[in-house]
Amino acid sequence: MIGGRFLASRSSARIVWLLGIISAFLFFFPVILWGDTAEDSLRNVDPLVAQLKSLRNTDPSFERAREWKELERRFRGEIKEAKGKRLADRAKLFFHAALLFEEIAHRSGDMERYREAYTLYLKVGEDHSAGKYGDDALYRAILLQKKFLREPEEMQAKRSLFFQRYPESEYVVLLQGREGSRPQRDQDEGAPIEDQHLPLIVIDPGHGGDDEGAVGPAGLREKDLSLSIAKLLVEKFRAEKRARVVLTRTGDTFVPLFERTQIANRASADLFLSIHMNAIAERSESTQGFEIYYVSQEASPDAIRLANMENRQLQIDVGALGAFLEELYRRGAKEVSRPVAEAVFHEMDKVLPKQFQGVKLRRRGVKQGPFFVLFGAEMPAILLELFFLSHPDDSYLLSLPQFRKTVADAIFRGVSQALVRRTEEEEGPS
Ligand SMILES: [Zn+2]
Repeated sequence: MIGGRFLASRSSARIVWLLGIISAFLFFFPVILWGDTAEDSLRNVDPLVAQLKSLRNTDPSFERAREWKELERRFRGEIKEAKGKRLADRAKLFFHAALLFEEIAHRSGDMERYREAYTLYLKVGEDHSAGKYGDDALYRAILLQKKFLREPEEMQAKRSLFFQRYPESEYVVLLQGREGSRPQRDQDEGAPIEDQHLPLIVIDPGHGGDDEGAVGPAGLREKDLSLSIAKLLVEKFRAEKRARVVLTRTGDTFVPLFERTQIANRASADLFLSIHMNAIAERSESTQGFEIYYVSQEASPDAIRLANMENRQLQIDVGALGAFLEELYRRGAKEVSRPVAEAVFHEMDKVLPKQFQGVKLRRRGVKQGPFFVLFGAEMPAILLELFFLSHPDDSYLLSLPQFRKTVADAIFRGVSQALVRRTEEEEGPS
């Protein structure tokens, strides 16, 4: 019996031990689990990224230098802590820190920052080359080499690496450049160059990421529709071999307005085409249809209202941008944009049916407006407002894939027509 009691007390001691271990595990388990969530690892990075976006968009001239410096200090603090982060989060941190250094360098002329940005971009690729920021980072590193660091061999090596690593990337077309500066075949192994003689169009699907654009009564979002139509256009242009096309965004991502025309300028594109859907706050049964804009500061009140809506990402009113806008406007391509807008409109007007599923497709004509996304384009640049998301009939049509296809085909015809006309004008009468 003694032995039995002894045994019993030994087993109850075991139970106490076991309970102790289980409760300790239950106590620490959430800590173990939550300690490593993406949220935690990004908790400090996401606000920095958000602030970077806002500064890039609203302070092109370094007037808020103190805010930039403070943001830089915080980014550097995060970089010191980077070891504990997941690879994907680290890539996000390094990519945006590099972007920050680059932006500060642009504004302050401090070359050392370009070098730092370059090193960080390369780190993104080494750490996480297949991740979301991989091709962006390497592409930007190459641009830094080309424009500021100027080490030809290093640049050539990174270009070859790019073509090898990301043969499907949108940036391949941009890196190949214009026909005149066409790279040697042996330098760019694997890059398709047979279409190099075709004109280059940069298509800009409006909005994206946090910026949804207009939202229709059934929840249809402008950012999704503009991307959908842009992708249909890419397919069409590629299938018909009428032009090479680059998109300013291929997914649901935020691209600052400044950067959209920069993409086109860097690639010496022949045309910049921004795609949007219209909306109007007041209930107006008659406000329907599509219109095409080219950039101008002389605009009707309606156009200014619309431009303020489309420029909203900047968080400033058109009027408040003053001198900066004027400068960009002067550098822009107003005179060449108007005939292109008219040619595209004319052809779309011819090609689009008068009605679609019983809804009248209204033509609202060619207009001018102070759209920020078009300022600074060094080539003809137009903005399409494709029907009114605020109108139930237009909105319904836009929800139909077949309608979007019809619209994309009409744009394709319009743009092709405009490109032919431009080439004829450039070459002159024979
Ligand atoms: Zn828009």
